[in-house]
Amino acid sequence: MIKIYNTLTRKKEELKPINQNRIKLFVCGPTVYDESHIGHARTYISFDMITRYLKNQGLSVFYLQNITDIDDKIIKRASKLGIQPVELARKYEKEYLEDMHLLGVENVNYYARATEHIPEIINQIERLIANENAYETETGVYFDESSFQDFGKLSRRNVEDLNVHRINPDNNKRNPGDFALWKKRDDEPFWNSPWGKGRPGWHIEDTAITELYLGPRYDIHGGGLDLIFPHHDAEIAQMESVSGEKPMVRYWMHTGFLNVKGEKMSKSLGNFLTIRDLLQDYDPDVFRFFVLSTHYRSPIDFSKSALEQSKNSLGRIYKFMGQIIELIESDLNETNDQDENYINKLELARNNFFKAMDNDFNTPEALSIIFNFIRDFNREINEEKVSKSILKRVMLFIMEWGSIFGFKLIGKEYYEDKTKELIDIITDIREELRDRKDWELSDLIRSKLKDLNIVLEDK
Ligand SMILES: [Zn+2]
Ligand SMILES: [Zn+2]
Repeated sequence: MIKIYNTLTRKKEELKPINQNRIKLFVCGPTVYDESHIGHARTYISFDMITRYLKNQGLSVFYLQNITDIDDKIIKRASKLGIQPVELARKYEKEYLEDMHLLGVENVNYYARATEHIPEIINQIERLIANENAYETETGVYFDESSFQDFGKLSRRNVEDLNVHRINPDNNKRNPGDFALWKKRDDEPFWNSPWGKGRPGWHIEDTAITELYLGPRYDIHGGGLDLIFPHHDAEIAQMESVSGEKPMVRYWMHTGFLNVKGEKMSKSLGNFLTIRDLLQDYDPDVFRFFVLSTHYRSPIDFSKSALEQSKNSLGRIYKFMGQIIELIESDLNETNDQDENYINKLELARNNFFKAMDNDFNTPEALSIIFNFIRDFNREINEEKVSKSILKRVMLFIMEWGSIFGFKLIGKEYYEDKTKELIDIITDIREELRDRKDWELSDLIRSKLKDLNIVLEDK
């Protein structure tokens, strides 16, 4: 039984799909105006792991993400660079998809661009106007916050409290908190609509896209914690007003912030690191491991030392796998009289692992079970009591962990890279040969290394 912490109810609830064993999942995608930073990566790695786990548990998952490819930020940046907004958006969309690929985020079934869903957006706005949930002004079409009784039910903010603090730049709005569904503009990229030239607001993009592909009600909507208000509250207001069906989403899931020295990493604070910057110094798997060693809802503190730790921990698992494979290929017995004992220990570890994952995807707990298992099993290996059949089961367990956490354990270097140390040894020996004036042998070493594209220079 999988339990999920639902932001809507502030409780862990048993996951019950709306339709048999199918899960429809939507996660807010990026606004493609610049390189994605590692705070975004955290969210997408988390939902990738969640999807992998749901599939491991026999659920079929349709995972949809939007791409916000029209927006104030895109227009502003494009005009600064003197290029078309669409050109800018496509460039950063491509980079985003490359980044995700490197990080092993590969379970999204479809990326839906906002600009390719303008008819659906206009259609949804028309229905909101017909239902008297939206109205037109000189500057655009707005959602009437007061027309939706449950407004703010996700963030649990009191609408009146909020309005006190909000400025109202558009005097024609009925309530200060009313938000734009359609912006009337003709000096920028625009589309024709019943309200003249313009472009969509941000919140309407998600619900027009999800209504088309997932229907008016679906299982899970995810995103970063900062999207709860106003973005996700606005989505609920739009969709539940249009369809009259509730709840729009059964389980709202939100990832915690990625912090640097206790502050949220964000573009506006200027303390952000892009995924590309990060991957210059680190293997993508190391960052993925770093993300998954904290629970997805908890804040996570980014630092070089935390990444070094992750590198070491992941290295321990690789090394363990390397040992297991080597032993399977050795001349150990296929079975022995200790097998039953080990099968029980392995099953216990597996059960605990899945129990942790069932409990709102508790990856740090699951990892500690894996590391305890590795430590105990290493002791058994050292005492040479294991059989090949046990080793094969252990290998499958670690590979199952890898498939859920998103690590390809086969074909990876399991041992630490000792190339540099080896070259140091070889050059030391060669120095010694040269001191003894054994030119023949020292030249042979040099030419053999040259065959490997390693060039030695005598200084
Ligand atoms: Zn959304
Ligand atoms: Zn969104």
